[in-house]
Amino acid sequence: MEHLYAVDCHNHSAFSPDGFDPVEAKLARAKELGLYALTLTDHCECQAFEEEYRHRARRAWEGMARAEAACPQGLVFLKGIELGQPLENPAAMEEVLKRPYDFVLGSLHNLKDEEDFYYMRFTPKEMDRVHGLLSRYWEELLALCQEADFDSLGHLTYPIRYLEGQSGLKVDLTPHLPAIDAVLRALIRRGKALEVNTSGYRTLGRPLPDLPLLQRYRALGGRLITLGSDAHRTEDLGFGIDRGMELLRAAGFTEFALYVGREPRMLPLE
Ligand SMILES: [Zn+2]
Ligand SMILES: [Zn+2]
Repeated sequence: MEHLYAVDCHNHSAFSPDGFDPVEAKLARAKELGLYALTLTDHCECQAFEEEYRHRARRAWEGMARAEAACPQGLVFLKGIELGQPLENPAAMEEVLKRPYDFVLGSLHNLKDEEDFYYMRFTPKEMDRVHGLLSRYWEELLALCQEADFDSLGHLTYPIRYLEGQSGLKVDLTPHLPAIDAVLRALIRRGKALEVNTSGYRTLGRPLPDLPLLQRYRALGGRLITLGSDAHRTEDLGFGIDRGMELLRAAGFTEFALYVGREPRMLPLE
């Protein structure tokens, strides 16, 4: 890595249904890359907690605890989780967060009664529907930011990853900026961080969210930023983190947050 304090605080192991490799492989790769810290954040999709994610979250926790003992020297390894749709099952959120995680990502992958944006495909003729879904997305995201228990908001512009990356649609976010502002203000008010999700560099050439929204967050007073590649495969670990750190500097930030015991520790963008 090019930066002394490069960290990857959003990535998945085989404990996620869409992840591939064991935690130990992630740790070895993080060490090889020269990452300062790695926080593992396997999925807990709260609406499917009873049938699937209660055991997944428990197994991921146990796996991380085992891997901790074998962590390579010189690498900071932290235990995190990505809570999806926490407001669809607040009891699941409460139960899971009894464990002493270092870091909790709050994420919205699907709207209530809709499938994950990952599975949705649209044609350019369906732009009205797309804008309608996006409006609902910011609304549910705002509720999540106001009510859920988490540390950093994962991939703010998640639907764009698929609308643009998979359906090839150019989506103008201008009409959505007031709603996005409300989300950013809620984060700032509650002292929550905003994630720079560098997975976008793999598919879109820019992170989620990108420079204009990072500048807006800063202009509104936001200072807490976390960084993650959202790698589901070990070879993608750390991807785009250096670029994301440079983008943050371009947006005027001088430091970012690494969460330990659910408290932000500020590190320089060096
Ligand atoms: Zn996610
Ligand atoms: Zn993720």
